Amino acid sequence: MNTNLRVAICGAGIGGLTLALALSRFPNIDVSIYESAQALAEIGAGIGVFPRVWRVIQKLGLDEDLLKTFAGGRQEGPVVNWVFRKSNQAEGEEFFSLVAEGSVVFLHRPDYQKTIINHLPDRIQTYTSKRLVSYTQSSGGPPLAVQLCFADGTTASCDILVGADGLKSSVRAGVLRERAQDVKDLKAEAELRYSLEPVWAGTNAYRALISVDKLRERAPGHRLLSATAGIMYLGKSAHILAYRISEGRMINFVAFVSKHELENTEYDGPWMSIINRGADPEAFKNAFSAFEGWEEDVQAMIDCIVNPIDWAIHTVLPMSSFISGQVVLLGDAAHAMTPHQGSGAGQAVEDAYILATVLGQISSREDIQRALSVYDAVRRPFALEVMERSRRNGRYLQLTFDLPGLLPTQVGSEDSQKLELLEESERKEKLAEIGAALGKNWGWAWNTSLDGAVQEALRLMEQYGGKEEGQDE
Ligand SMILES: Cc1cc2nc3c(=O)[nH]c(=O)nc-3n(C[C@H](O)[C@H](O)[C@H](O)COP(=O)(O)OP(=O)(O)OC[C@H]3O[C@@H](n4cnc5c(N)ncnc54)[C@H](O)[C@@H]3O)c2cc1C
Repeated sequence: MNTNLRVAICGAGIGGLTLALALSRFPNIDVSIYESAQALAEIGAGIGVFPRVWRVIQKLGLDEDLLKTFAGGRQEGPVVNWVFRKSNQAEGEEFFSLVAEGSVVFLHRPDYQKTIINHLPDRIQTYTSKRLVSYTQSSGGPPLAVQLCFADGTTASCDILVGADGLKSSVRAGVLRERAQDVKDLKAEAELRYSLEPVWAGTNAYRALISVDKLRERAPGHRLLSATAGIMYLGKSAHILAYRISEGRMINFVAFVSKHELENTEYDGPWMSIINRGADPEAFKNAFSAFEGWEEDVQAMIDCIVNPIDWAIHTVLPMSSFISGQVVLLGDAAHAMTPHQGSGAGQAVEDAYILATVLGQISSREDIQRALSVYDAVRRPFALEVMERSRRNGRYLQLTFDLPGLLPTQVGSEDSQKLELLEESERKEKLAEIGAALGKNWGWAWNTSLDGAVQEALRLMEQYGGKEEGQDE
């Protein structure tokens, strides 16, 4: 290439920033990030990073800095990462421990974002207050620049546009419209209708950070004060996850309340709002009413919450392609999923790493579409599989044991309502089945690595005539 490849990343969330960092290894690629917010600032909540994604973070050189904020200290080998309790009763019962190969690293999102930003070299251009509203590209013929239009009336151009603009992605809208026009088949048109707007997962998440000191004062014997693992408190159609972040000073608390029968419908209300406990005690009470009568650990945490964020969980229905011409989607823009495997951000990181790997192999602008096709072929099936597994986890975490195909015992859905009515030994057996199903459904996150996908991407690039493996790195 006579001139550097110009990559524009729309969105500076975890996916966009990780891509920028991964691309910065390639001197022949110029990167510009366009972020709609006035400043690069993440909403302050926690994320859990599983071993598979942690290995990518190590490759990007972020691990040492991130570990400074992780109270537990990371271990290799078998580690109890999550403890599961049936908590919708006065005395909860622990029924399963999730043992993974290596620790899940619990991070505060702003810490993660700050760490990536600190590692970005100066040559990465970052523009804030730049909301992309649309783009245009020529269809067919030799690769031409993609034109970007922003809400402030300005424009820019690039060789490749990456839509890392999250759940409500503008770039996804463009990709779907182009595909409906280009492909002109019923499937593409149907996809335009059903994947354009995110759908409600039937679940609301109430998120809060709780000060460990405050919790200690309220409940000196609370399990989280001494736990090294995260704890899940489970019940019918509701559950809570809680773990320590920020050197152990804070607890990341998320309570999920579901109406599974409303999955994939339109949500009636704001997708995100803050519940002000002082000003609107009724709204607070309603939000947490599903947890009345649950064990004391749960009551203590709810007592310590001040202004939780009510987050209506939305997903994007599976798409048949993440690319259109020289435009590509990653992260939530491509495959927003439920948070029940703690993997949405992790999948954005994997997308970013593979996309950077294939773009780093490009030696001519003629290779762009092939590189994007390889990314789509390698990443899309995997991310969509994780999305489905996450959905299933959401059912297990709310004590459903009637999902076909995964559990040894097949029982009717009406039976799952009756967990409470079972004899103790039978109930324990059912809970053990749920634990086993969770472990099996989640195992990919620590039993597999991204290395196979990287090799596959490089093999496909070579097969299509890209550079030799490792060149440019
Ligand atoms: C309750 C909950 C808990 C979760 N827990 C975990 C967890 O433990 N582990 C995990 O891996 N994941 C978790 N996730 C999922 C994770 O938060 C997301 O999958 C992840 O943040 C997606 O990253 P992203 O970069 O694709 O999108 P985002 O983080 O949404 O970033 C998109 C960026 O694009 C910007 N933007 C939007 N539109 C435009 C535009 N038109 N022009 C320019 N910029 C734009 C936005 O301002 C934003 O900065 C959780 C999610 C929820 C809701």
